[in-house]
Amino acid sequence: LLDERRDNYLVALCPQQAGDWTRGAVGLACVELASGRFFAQVVPAAGLIDELARLRPAELLVPDVGAEAFSSLEGAEAASGASSEQTGSFLDRLRETLEAAIAPRPAHVFDAVMAERALCEHFGVASMAGFGFDAFDVSLCAAAAVLDYLKETQKTALAHVLKIVPRQTAGHCLIDQVALRSLEVERTMLDGSREGSLLASVDMTVNPMGARRLRSWLCFPLRDVGEIRSRQAAIGALREEPSRLRKLRDLVRDVGDVERITARLGVGRASPRDMVGLGRGLRRCGELASLAMASGDWGLGGGGGAVGDDVVAAESTTSNAESTLNAEPADMLSRLATSLGGHDELATFLETSLKEDAPPVVRDGGFIADGYDAELDRLRNVGREGHRWLAEYQAREAERTGIATLKIGYNSVFGYYIEITHQHRDKVPADYVRKQTIRNAERYITDELKRHETEVLTAADRAKETEIALFEKIRARALQELPRLQSMAEAVATLDVLAAFAELSRQRGYCRPDVVNGELRTESSKSAGGDGAGDAVLEIVDGRHPVLDVALGERFVPNDCRLASDGDHLLVITGPNMAGKSTYIRQVALLALLAQTGSYVPAKSMRWSPVDRIFARVGASDELARGRSTFMVEMVETARILHTATPWSLVILDEIGRGTSTYDGLALAWAITEYLAGCVGCRTLFATHYHELTELADQLSGVANFNVAVREELRPDGAGRDVVFLHRIVPGATDRSYGVHVAAMAGLPASVLRRSEAVLRELEQRLAGRSDGSGLVAEGVEESGQLLLFDGTEPLPDWWRELVDTIDGVDTDRTTPLDALSLLRRLQEVVRQGGP
Ligand code: ADP
Ligand code: MG
Repeated sequence: LLDERRDNYLVALCPQQAGDWTRGAVGLACVELASGRFFAQVVPAAGLIDELARLRPAELLVPDVGAEAFSSLEGAEAASGASSEQTGSFLDRLRETLEAAIAPRPAHVFDAVMAERALCEHFGVASMAGFGFDAFDVSLCAAAAVLDYLKETQKTALAHVLKIVPRQTAGHCLIDQVALRSLEVERTMLDGSREGSLLASVDMTVNPMGARRLRSWLCFPLRDVGEIRSRQAAIGALREEPSRLRKLRDLVRDVGDVERITARLGVGRASPRDMVGLGRGLRRCGELASLAMASGDWGLGGGGGAVGDDVVAAESTTSNAESTLNAEPADMLSRLATSLGGHDELATFLETSLKEDAPPVVRDGGFIADGYDAELDRLRNVGREGHRWLAEYQAREAERTGIATLKIGYNSVFGYYIEITHQHRDKVPADYVRKQTIRNAERYITDELKRHETEVLTAADRAKETEIALFEKIRARALQELPRLQSMAEAVATLDVLAAFAELSRQRGYCRPDVVNGELRTESSKSAGGDGAGDAVLEIVDGRHPVLDVALGERFVPNDCRLASDGDHLLVITGPNMAGKSTYIRQVALLALLAQTGSYVPAKSMRWSPVDRIFARVGASDELARGRSTFMVEMVETARILHTATPWSLVILDEIGRGTSTYDGLALAWAITEYLAGCVGCRTLFATHYHELTELADQLSGVANFNVAVREELRPDGAGRDVVFLHRIVPGATDRSYGVHVAAMAGLPASVLRRSEAVLRELEQRLAGRSDGSGLVAEGVEESGQLLLFDGTEPLPDWWRELVDTIDGVDTDRTTPLDALSLLRRLQEVVRQGGP
């Protein structure tokens, strides 16, 4: 009965907070019944209806408890006549918009723990991480409900539902946890410190709001060409006018962290000092707005600077030929200016109502400005008068009694008192009433003193009360503008990052990358067999690693990169240890990431089409602590890549397959490479120590070999050769790993080095002797369905087997020293007879 002209989707929904469909997020899982294509994603509640409308599911599963919550809410709503936007009518709206059948399902199938277990069981895996899901992903709860329902209704094993794919949220390039870590975006892998990370090296923000924004830009890079261009244009415009940029950054710094203040304001905890800070921030924002807006001519001075323009020299604002590129540069800036401005009234209000040096606590008062409230002024005056009277009284009494040291003091127990040292005890007048004796003085009160005291203290108390009441009003007034304050704070954050990128590009000579052809292949065009990835490119000329560029300066060797989906899109990079393979492949990924935040990049030029996901599996993982072996971790992460990479992804693999035996590892690396090159077709860099992989370039189109150039130099004493790493990536394969040279550089004992060189020669000769051209053979995968590997492998010699068996058979708990000795002799015989 279902419409054949469109996909038939079965969708399950699970709100993050039980029963709450209007806030937070909702897990959505969807299976296409015909193909078994199964995907899941977390959707913001606000976008849920839109998402569902795009999918148009035929059937919709929701947790039963949620359904009950609706009806009860619906009842309450009907009674109170509440708005139809409320939670209660959510299902009705769904029914209307979607014409879908809605089926409540038992709540327990949506339970997070049960859900993950059921899914793992169905897919036969130990964890859903390999599919690209994080633990407790609410979309998995929905996914389990889909499976459960299918099983119940279809009564089959659902063998066609082979995998589940996390669906990408549109608009962003996804970088998962592993890639963030491998690429050291926020923290270094070695010690988890911020220093040495990409974030630390590109962070030139001057305001904490900007610093936070930068972090989120780096973690959620853009994918949309238009958005990337508009950020680029704004940065380009800002960097053209250094003096204005400097002024702007000074103002941004001065604004302070108004975001945090507005957050405190929102929960009723903003202090007087906060409010003064807010006022100051608002004032600066006003200035910022006019600076950002100023005659709307940002960028008219050029800023196009497509490739490698020498930034530091560009002090002038004269227009150049590229200015036409910036038809819209002011757009983003003027949009920001709009959100920044218009707060003068509130700024003035805060400035006139609060003292500039207001304290951080409300309790003690002392923050409302003089002249703001007449009653407060009067009370303060009484207080001041009282203090003046006290001073006069002290002078008068000192004179009357002839006690020059007579002092008036105050304590909270009995208020104001007159203090007279014991030395002058006999001069104390009769009208003084003694209250307290301390070590070297006595304390007295008088009627006159107490009369004034009441006046002073009540005035102070009432002034404090008045201040607190006034402050509540001030906060309430600011609170009314909260939404506008928030968007202002956002604008400052964004402007800070843009200005920081502009500054960065000037200081470090970054270029504006050329973003091309962002037409991403959509799900539907993919299934329709579209060839949308045909124009995915990534070309970098003289790229530099953003972090090492700073650390090494002149000594850093820039490198090019060229990946194109219709040309070479998978580069196998070989080269000796320490040559710079890992640095190079990370550098390419980091430049893509940076470029997709809208930033300029450390390169002479760059041209790329945005990537939809960046995958990076780099170096040894330190997840041993989590109880999974390194190799298991490596394979889970690789599985995730193979399952989720699309033709638009960028994949960086470093030494995959290293965690297991050589042949295993090589076989896996080989098959993984074939899969990425042939089945996925994404832009990929694979650094490997398996030189055998370089054979793939001959067998597969789209695969090319590169290596890191090395120069061998005769040692001055003529005793062998030294290896000089040039850190330059050049086309072609290497067949040498120079491991022994690296070991020499590391200072291994000379005898060990000599021996290893001899062993190496021996091994090479033996391999050469045995070579019958079989080496590695990879049949077309689709023909034979499997790989033929290493059919030239030698079997183990008999003596070796005997040796192993003998050793294996020893029960050390029952072996006497004598037995051990004779065993050793036996072993020796075996070796001497059959051994090498
Ligand atoms: P590999 O992965 O090939 O073993 P790495 O990428 O870890 O090598 O690089 C080793 C070291 O070489 C780095 O720590 C860095 O100091 C240096 N290096 C790498 N690339 C460059 C380069 N392009 N220019 C200068 N030095 C480099
Ligand atoms: Mg490496």
